[in-house]
Amino acid sequence: HLSKRLQTVSDHVEPGSRLADIGSDHAYLPIHLAQNHVIDYGVVGEVAKGPLANATSEITKDHLLDILHPRLADGLAAIEPGDDIDAITIAGMGGNLITHILEAGKAKLTGKEKLILQPNVGEPVVRNWLMANQYRIFAEQILKEDGHIYEIITAKKADKPVAYSKLALQFGPFLLQEKSPVFVEKWQEEIGLLKRVIKNMRQATTPDTAKMTAIQSEINLINEVIKVES
Ligand code: SAM
Repeated sequence: HLSKRLQTVSDHVEPGSRLADIGSDHAYLPIHLAQNHVIDYGVVGEVAKGPLANATSEITKDHLLDILHPRLADGLAAIEPGDDIDAITIAGMGGNLITHILEAGKAKLTGKEKLILQPNVGEPVVRNWLMANQYRIFAEQILKEDGHIYEIITAKKADKPVAYSKLALQFGPFLLQEKSPVFVEKWQEEIGLLKRVIKNMRQATTPDTAKMTAIQSEINLINEVIKVES
């Protein structure tokens, strides 16, 4: 049984995809997809030996070694020329690490891959990388599970440069349009956090008023975005 987070990531993998799941750990995501006959070829990449051993033992236990190929590798180095990968999932790590993996592995990207990314934090960093590298975001999800709010971003290489506004990069072009209750909750939490930061700064002997003003305008911006229209 997959978590809601990984289930949502897996929903974006189209039937018949040749998948690379990078940073797979226990390999739950590719195992789920193989067991449900969504994929019949998957690369399971892991940089660390312990997690790779977990992945290999789960895949072996489920008799999926002919479909799923566990490989010890840093990022996209797990992908080999003959794999013919057309879907890449990178889930459960920070946006900086996901961006680093994509940037360092650029040579492995052919441009036909669908990228399905689930950063735990730092979503704007991921969107900035996608824009800078001419990827178009074509779906986003936001969900809450066990008290955590997760975003999922899927993207594909575009044939011409793509431009997103500052607002779209920060909040997500689709999430911004949709303004779901979970989205509003996420940004209300962020406001709470920023308000506490200002409160703490106010107690300093020489408060950094410029910084406090900047944080206050960030709060105002978020309030404007999540404002309920009446
Ligand atoms: N993708 C799974 C999920 O979403 O549940 C597992 C997420 S787990 C928190 C992150 C995994 O990424 C760890 O097992 C870690 O070893 C792996 N990892 C971190 N950096 C990596 C890299 N550069 N290349 C491959 N795997 C990496």
